Amino acid sequence: MTLDQESVGRLSRIDAMQVQAMALAQQQRRRVEHAAIEAALRRIDEGEYGYCIRCGEDIAPARLEHSPTVTTCIDCAKET
Ligand SMILES: [Zn+2]
Repeated sequence: MTLDQESVGRLSRIDAMQVQAMALAQQQRRRVEHAAIEAALRRIDEGEYGYCIRCGEDIAPARLEHSPTVTTCIDCAKET
């Protein structure tokens, strides 16, 4: 397969757009992650960390270990 100049130009524009979209998505993910960490730290400060925000029960340590920023126990997570 051969590509003429125009096709190459179009392809690299698409590439550039994809790279930009990926960078944006990653930035967004990082922001969301950061917000979740901030919220977790705030709950630690307030002594609320490790308790489900919906029912107030303890969140299983294994669950917290796996995802330290979760805010609900496994039962409440299943309900939503
Ligand atoms: Zn709960």
